[in-house]
Amino acid sequence: MTTLWTDLLRLFFPKPCCICGRRLGAEEKEFCFECASQFSRTDDDKHPNRTEELFIGLPGIKSAYALFTYKKGDHVQRLIHALKYHDRPKIGYWLGKMAAEELKKSDSPLLQAEVIVPVPLHPARMRSRGYNQSEWIARGFSEVWNIPIDTRSLIRIHNNTSQTKHSATERWLNTSEIFSLARPDTAGKHILLIDDVITTGSTLTHCAEILLQQADTQVSIFALARV
Ligand SMILES: [Zn+2]
Repeated sequence: MTTLWTDLLRLFFPKPCCICGRRLGAEEKEFCFECASQFSRTDDDKHPNRTEELFIGLPGIKSAYALFTYKKGDHVQRLIHALKYHDRPKIGYWLGKMAAEELKKSDSPLLQAEVIVPVPLHPARMRSRGYNQSEWIARGFSEVWNIPIDTRSLIRIHNNTSQTKHSATERWLNTSEIFSLARPDTAGKHILLIDDVITTGSTLTHCAEILLQQADTQVSIFALARV
């Protein structure tokens, strides 16, 4: 809850950088500029790119883009970890906004999207975490591109109990055992599907398969990072 008191506390005791722990300056959001300079970028501005290659077997995927590369122990891994497990959802918002601003100046096929669908969490996971990190990334995009976010059409029905959401077991389940379409609101649209990290691409493939069951629908993919 934001109150005048918490605003005052922030002014005098600013948040620490989610990576190095240093106190943030007035211009810094969630992470410091020095840590941000070490985030490694992909070369996904090209099409086709390596992220798109992961979804090559799925007709209906228009394009795919990941902002950073993700390696064990690097700054991007710590960034994503803070976003998901340390109650820092605004990391998603600021990076989503930054990526959306950057893509807006390019001729990216993602710009043709009409609605944003964040990869949903199971309701039990949503309750325990308190937020969906992908939805916060979507908020950054929505603000810059001025397109709506749909969090009600695609729902997660399988509750993955492991620490990471891309567990091995879920890869072998049928798509219809993990996700379901609760409403037809995204039918016939170009959907921007957003996730935090792409590992094997199986979660996003499951989501896209469900969305693409609707006639005349296209899906593009954005993730903050790709392994
Ligand atoms: Zn830092």
